[in-house]
Amino acid sequence: MSRCKLTVAERNEIFHRFEEKNATPRIELEYSSPFTLLIAVILSAQATDKGVNRVTPSLFEIADTPQKMLELGEEGLKGFIKTLGLFNSKAKNIIALCRIIIDKYEGEVPNTLEQLQELPGVGRKSANVMLNSIWHQPTIAVDTHVFRVSNRIGFCNTKNVYDTEMALLKYVPKKWKDRAHHWLVLHGRYVCKARKPQCELCLINDICKFKHKTGS
Ligand code: SF4
Repeated sequence: MSRCKLTVAERNEIFHRFEEKNATPRIELEYSSPFTLLIAVILSAQATDKGVNRVTPSLFEIADTPQKMLELGEEGLKGFIKTLGLFNSKAKNIIALCRIIIDKYEGEVPNTLEQLQELPGVGRKSANVMLNSIWHQPTIAVDTHVFRVSNRIGFCNTKNVYDTEMALLKYVPKKWKDRAHHWLVLHGRYVCKARKPQCELCLINDICKFKHKTGS
């Protein structure tokens, strides 16, 4: 298990500051049900949340259930999502997934990590996003932002997203676990950016262990 460079007090202080800034962080994808979030999450691979939010309102107006999505069909679906990367394989996966949800789960999105991961186009990260955002489980989905930010701050020293997830589950204090994913994503997206972190504006600058802070 990767070692954490932060004391327990520092870990708590980081999330305390995130909470003071934004007590109710949420996913930036638009959705109105477990099914529409699942579709939005699948569409967000290799695409920005903004790009996904541009196409989903008109899509969900006519296909906000697995049955309606099946009726729309693969070609019909492609017409809505063709501005997004990998749209051909996403359309294929979504139609296959709708069949499984109807046949195996009576039209309801399943709510375990194992069942979600068995659906076409749904990996561990997406399954964790669903468990956390819909069923409020203390899972921590690790995307590129969470991976980068966690390593820079000093939560872990890891080479892959799975090890990062395991480290965060161990080192993020229980109190913050259900919101940790959202705060770390938002911090990575808007402050601790990949190429040029805005350390001079960062609210946890004094705690962060990153050796190459900008402006210092
Ligand atoms: S101080 Fe810089 S590297 Fe550390 S979390 Fe803030 S923005 Fe990221």
